[in-house]
Amino acid sequence: MPKLYIEERYCKGCGICIEFCPAKVLKQSKKMNSRGYFPPESGEMQKCKKCGMCSLLCPDFAIVVSD
Ligand code: SF4
Ligand code: SF4
Repeated sequence: MPKLYIEERYCKGCGICIEFCPAKVLKQSKKMNSRGYFPPESGEMQKCKKCGMCSLLCPDFAIVVSD
């Protein structure tokens, strides 16, 4: 199953990763990061297609997808 590494302190809560994930794996966390934003968190990772879209589109390089 793919793994997502989310560097929460880099996130500005724009929601792009959540919006464009084709499998709707990501959702907004209820926990605020140190910058006052709500980063994404992964849900059902078995649905992840490992397309890398979240990582590619994140303007702040806050997500990495790996095996
Ligand atoms: S790799 Fe693709 S399917 Fe998996 S969480 Fe990122 S955008 Fe969604
Ligand atoms: S695209 Fe990047 S900056 Fe925007 S919410 Fe997702 S992780 Fe945060």
